[in-house]
Amino acid sequence: MDLEPTKIPQATAKRLPLYYRFLNNLHSQGKMRVSSKELSDAVKVDSATIRRDFSYFGALGKKGYGYNVEYLLSFFRKTLDQDETTDVALIGVGNLGTAFLNYNFTKNNNTKIKIAFDASEERVGTEVGGVKVEHIDDLEEKMGDLTVAILTVPANAAQGIADRLVKAGVSGILNFTPARISVPHHVRVHHIDLAIELQALVYFLKHYPLEDEEF
Ligand code: ATP
Repeated sequence: MDLEPTKIPQATAKRLPLYYRFLNNLHSQGKMRVSSKELSDAVKVDSATIRRDFSYFGALGKKGYGYNVEYLLSFFRKTLDQDETTDVALIGVGNLGTAFLNYNFTKNNNTKIKIAFDASEERVGTEVGGVKVEHIDDLEEKMGDLTVAILTVPANAAQGIADRLVKAGVSGILNFTPARISVPHHVRVHHIDLAIELQALVYFLKHYPLEDEEF
């Protein structure tokens, strides 16, 4: 329980929100314990990985008992700062950007899109998913102290916007464009290319069929 969050491997840290969401549901149903098999089926992470992940935060499941839901939840709450909401900006209110704005992140998460930007005169001034769309020219002025941005602009606009975001004080970019953007060392970019993910999934299904694992 007293393990420093920074000591958790990055791949494990990335799965924490997934675990957190499922355990929260279990907890609200009054469930006290869960096996790694149950978790594995629900979050679609193989149970060996789950056992290894959980061992990093001192949760050692017992055979025939599983994991203590309460213990895990309190660990996740602490690690993920669930009491604090992080406001983020979204740049590019096209098809994907609109979908994100309409998706209620806060339901299961501690992030909220607070402001959106676009270059299109038709979109600027409108409201999408309750968020006002500002003109991209006003980015620096309107970002305020936001430090996280979602990038859903066309690939050719990605680098220019990223440069401006960095100058405006952003330290985290979730890049949904296929462009590989360059940023200074202090800025973290997570790149999600949906087309490549889908391709990878199809490839893995073909070449690495999953085996059943028991706890
Ligand atoms: P659609 O074209 O149907 O809106 P899309 O997601 O396919 O959807 P894209 O061409 O990928 O459209 O553009 C995404 C959004 O990014 C659009 O709303 C567009 O107006 C906006 N956009 C394009 N260039 C910029 C830019 N330099 N700065 C900010 N927004 C931009």
